Amino acid sequence: MSAAIYGRRAGLDVLLLEKGATGGQINITDEIENWPGVQHATGPELGDMLRDHALKFKTEIRFCDVKKVELRGDAKVIITDKGDIEAEAVILATGAYFRRLGCPGEDSHIGQGVSYCATCDGAFFEDLEVAVIGGGNTAVEEGAYLTKFATKVYIIHRRDEFRADRAAIERAMSNPKIVPIWNSVVESIEGNGPVDHLVLKNVKTNEVSNLEVSGVFVFVGQSPHDECFKGLVKSSKAGWVIVNEHMETSVEGIFAAGDVLDKHLRQVITAAADGAIAAMSASAYVDEQIHLRSTLLEPESVTAFFYSSPDATQSHLSNEVEKLSKEKGKKIPIVDGYKNSRIVEKLKIELPSVVEIKKGAVSKVTKVVTEADIAKALS
Ligand SMILES: Cc1cc2nc3c(=O)[nH]c(=O)nc-3n(C[C@H](O)[C@H](O)[C@H](O)COP(=O)(O)OP(=O)(O)OC[C@H]3O[C@@H](n4cnc5c(N)ncnc54)[C@H](O)[C@@H]3O)c2cc1C
Repeated sequence: MSAAIYGRRAGLDVLLLEKGATGGQINITDEIENWPGVQHATGPELGDMLRDHALKFKTEIRFCDVKKVELRGDAKVIITDKGDIEAEAVILATGAYFRRLGCPGEDSHIGQGVSYCATCDGAFFEDLEVAVIGGGNTAVEEGAYLTKFATKVYIIHRRDEFRADRAAIERAMSNPKIVPIWNSVVESIEGNGPVDHLVLKNVKTNEVSNLEVSGVFVFVGQSPHDECFKGLVKSSKAGWVIVNEHMETSVEGIFAAGDVLDKHLRQVITAAADGAIAAMSASAYVDEQIHLRSTLLEPESVTAFFYSSPDATQSHLSNEVEKLSKEKGKKIPIVDGYKNSRIVEKLKIELPSVVEIKKGAVSKVTKVVTEADIAKALS
């Protein structure tokens, strides 16, 4: 929704596709206290505020399930259960989900003591005892973080040693507030209203016991919602989308933002910031595409210079073209083929070149190396 707000304010036609509730994961958060400017809100309240903000700028919201995002030539096509949509640019912001334990009492206590995020909910457990479930780095590190608030943090692990880094384990084990419970799994989460206790089973002895805690932090993994674009853009092994600082994916015109990214901190504020950057990058991309079409493909005839900006020699040649263009009083479009690789591929041009285009089709390509070549090609 932050991408929608920024996109609309930048003058884009924004279509926001949502299969569930606008607001995403925050809808299942009871309280949110770390969104700057709003000292306290329920998750659904913040979700509504964000949606209303997006609607104020006339974002079109369409409720549908995106089944697939694919490229058909230059076009980006979004296949939904309510029909196909073609877009000039796409922002993938499908979020992520926390893997569940799957035991009785888990779902019904989300927001009532069951949490998947220490940064989000740790502060609600000041002076209380909590349990962490898991044995990897997240469980051990977040367990240590929770000792800032809780009086005791039990770390319940199904094995007899943690899978985390040695340094993280040493830090956690030297903390007197951390109490590991080995070889144990959670059978159920109990409590009439808020969490009251856990029923644990020792997997070696089959002994069942109760553990009184006010909170349970489940860290058994998080996964991206990447089902509808798997394989389309470059991702990590686990499926998290890889972007650069402009939120550009490996595919031109496809951007990504929020929890679906390969990133360090998955929070509303970081997702919102990513969304803002992605929208501004998408806006620049769309403007550039429109500009390229109107300067290169739509005129009867045009002579343009194509180069690659990271190459210092080619950049120097582009300055030379600009100078000649001014001297001759003739507009010569200069196209950075590095940033616009699709048009370079489409026109099958080698860089750097002076290219003559007639009615959208290349009629002549002159490869250039020196300033003299440029002067000759443009004479
Ligand atoms: C229990 C809980 C508590 C949290 N507490 C806090 C907190 O206190 N503070 C904080 O900052 N963060 C908190 N977070 C994290 C925060 O909610 C996320 O970081 C944030 O929502 C990420 O936003 P997002 O837009 O990237 O993804 P999401 O919120 O996951 O939104 C993605 C949206 O995409 C939609 N979608 C996915 N696939 C499709 C598809 N194929 N077709 C159509 N729509 C699709 C989903 O329905 C969803 O609405 C919490 C998370 C949880 C689960």
